[in-house]
Amino acid sequence: MSVNGAATAVKANKSLHEKPAEHEHDRDGTEESGLPRDPAFLASLASSLLSHTDLALVYIGADGLCRHADHRFSALLGRAPAGLAGSGLDGLDHPLARAVCEAVAVLTRSGAGSVPVDCEVAGQDGSRALVSGSLLAHRDAAGETLGFLGSFLDTADTRRVAEFVTRRDPFVATLLDAAVDGIIVSDRSGLIRSINRACLTLFGYEEGELLGQSMTVLMPPPFSRDHAKYVDTYMRTERPKIIGIGRDTLGRRKDGTVFPIHLSVGEARLGDSVTFVGIIRDISDRLAAEQRASYLARHDPLTGVLTRTAFLEECEALLRDGGGDGGFALFTLDVDQFSDVNEAFGFHVGDAALKAMVSRVTEVLPANTYICRIAADEFAALARVDGMEHARTLADVLHDRLTASIYADRHWVRLRLSIGAALQDGPRQSLEDLNAKAKLALQAVQHDGGNAVCFYTPEMAAAATRRMLLTVHLTHAIERNEMHLVYQPIVDRTGRIVSAEALLRWTHHTLGPVSPGEFIPVAEESGLIVPITDWVLSTAIGQMERWQGEGVLPERVFLNISGQQFLRGNLTPRLEELLADCPDLRTRLGLEITEQAAVRDLKVAVRTLGELAALGIQAAIDDFGSGYSSLSYVQQLPVAKLKIDRAFVVDVPENPKSNALIRAAIGMAHGLGLATVAEGVETEEQRDFLVSVGCDMMQGYLFGRPMTAEALGEMVRGQGVHGVGVGVPGPKAHA
Ligand code: C2E
Ligand code: MG
Ligand code: MG
Repeated sequence: MSVNGAATAVKANKSLHEKPAEHEHDRDGTEESGLPRDPAFLASLASSLLSHTDLALVYIGADGLCRHADHRFSALLGRAPAGLAGSGLDGLDHPLARAVCEAVAVLTRSGAGSVPVDCEVAGQDGSRALVSGSLLAHRDAAGETLGFLGSFLDTADTRRVAEFVTRRDPFVATLLDAAVDGIIVSDRSGLIRSINRACLTLFGYEEGELLGQSMTVLMPPPFSRDHAKYVDTYMRTERPKIIGIGRDTLGRRKDGTVFPIHLSVGEARLGDSVTFVGIIRDISDRLAAEQRASYLARHDPLTGVLTRTAFLEECEALLRDGGGDGGFALFTLDVDQFSDVNEAFGFHVGDAALKAMVSRVTEVLPANTYICRIAADEFAALARVDGMEHARTLADVLHDRLTASIYADRHWVRLRLSIGAALQDGPRQSLEDLNAKAKLALQAVQHDGGNAVCFYTPEMAAAATRRMLLTVHLTHAIERNEMHLVYQPIVDRTGRIVSAEALLRWTHHTLGPVSPGEFIPVAEESGLIVPITDWVLSTAIGQMERWQGEGVLPERVFLNISGQQFLRGNLTPRLEELLADCPDLRTRLGLEITEQAAVRDLKVAVRTLGELAALGIQAAIDDFGSGYSSLSYVQQLPVAKLKIDRAFVVDVPENPKSNALIRAAIGMAHGLGLATVAEGVETEEQRDFLVSVGCDMMQGYLFGRPMTAEALGEMVRGQGVHGVGVGVPGPKAHA
């Protein structure tokens, strides 16, 4: 006899009898509750029990005497039924009799509704077998015990046990039909013996259509074929391959539709007879949720492109496999000052612009390009290219397309975009390496003002290292006294010094002099520009006080203010503070800001310039014409001067285009009531031309290089006495 089989039977048997006990327990204390007290229930229970002709039944009175024992119970004790009636079981030397007496004692003592009874007996052929069942207390409405009903199953007879379990017992059927999962019982050859309601609903069948059918009708190919093979192997080897292993597979409905299921199969071995119980769950929802979760983990929710991790995985694999012909180019894209878009138009416009950007990237780059979103406004794309020429063309087209106006959420937006790119230079180049190079190229573009394309070159690594080095040293430049200011004269049309521009110098103790063209961008990128500007302001104002004391203070002294500092918003209060002790210097101070800084946030620029003008501090637009300038912006700014960039001055009067541009700029500036200053005047021809077209002031080596404060003081003093004519070079430069 199989221990397994016995256990299964015991379990089934117990649940059958324990149910009423639980029920009674649930409703303990209510008058007509308690199953044994309900005559209708007792009647149905009795008929149900009696219909199971396999059960051995006994009824024991409250006095402990046996009132009724059927032939099966008597046989278990090895007696004739008549021999038991009217006598007590306590006199019998038999394990079952002892177990029943003990159960009577327990029920009497505890007042419980039923107790399970299990015991080992010697079978008719001498083998050991389990008898399993339970004893129910029979009580009246007042709770008085009238007797005890015992029902037992001789599990030694495995054939009958198997029949009992697999037959559609009403209680088991109710239990199965209440289950949420589909439950299906098949015999060893795979024929369906029993199926619950959930399973019928799941597969869209009526019970009659499936009973006796092969399990394979519920499976699509190739699973149906495989299952047939399993059954075949099992029949030959008796080794069930699928038992105990839950797995995801597919089911097929009556209408032919296929859907994902989780299937776990248990084996119920009852003697010779074997049944399989399959528990089936529809996992369509779970799979959909899983797919959605894994999609979300790998894709940016806003733009739908890959996330950084997913991108790295995909690209690493692609590069490792070599990717066939040609090489790859990695493009990193960063929108310059994207926050401006969000601030000016709101996040919905920013979001729409990013989506539009991605769709343009997809349009421009080859079909099988991987794109990912690295940060809010930063993207990377790995594309297959046909060499450097192709990569350059793609990058240029990309830049053109992405910087063209975008219609985003009812607003026209124009983005400035920096693209850093790197081309794979060998078949085994890792993504990490390629990425580092593209990043360096991106840094190089951004360092040079952004809004352009740049491909990696080996010098970039050195330049980046240099910038790092400068950043580190710049941190200590002020405390180590490595900074000083020089001053360059600005003259009027007659050559008289009317103002001066303060220019910053940094001499590092080991690196030597570092030009502001190099360290100012580093200071801006690192944020060190804030303390540096503060130092410039206080140093220049201190110098102005000294010049004033000596009577050599030019009409205006101009200081350069970087865009970042200008837009920070605390410039006016800081200047007020610095000028508190010398308020008359307010009208002698001027600030130069680049037009790029001014147009970046026009609102803040207009407000700040207004505040400064109210204090008497003048503002000049520096490097006019070098950016994507527009006089329509400039006319909105409360500024007094326009400084025409050196790039236009350098080839006048030879280049007619430059001549025309300068003429136009001066004409428009005058139209707006602004004075003009030409920068970088080095020759007398340039000076003569500028004077001839009405330029108001000039600055350049022709009139004086940036020089020490003392030298400039001397120059101003000298012109007071002797007058300094246009074109007369100043003292030797110290810058
Ligand atoms: P900028 O404000 O346009 O300054 C004028 C630059 O042109 C100065 O270069 C000056 O030395 C140079 N220059 C003047 N006349 C001539 C000429 O005839 N020929 C040529 N070839 N160059 C001439 P510098 O001093 O190297 O400054 C470069 C830039 O660094 C400045 O351009 C300014 O943007 C920035 N800068 C300098 N000092 C400061 C500062 O204190 N704060 C900030 N934020 N930026 C500064
Ligand atoms: Mg300047
Ligand atoms: Mg300038």
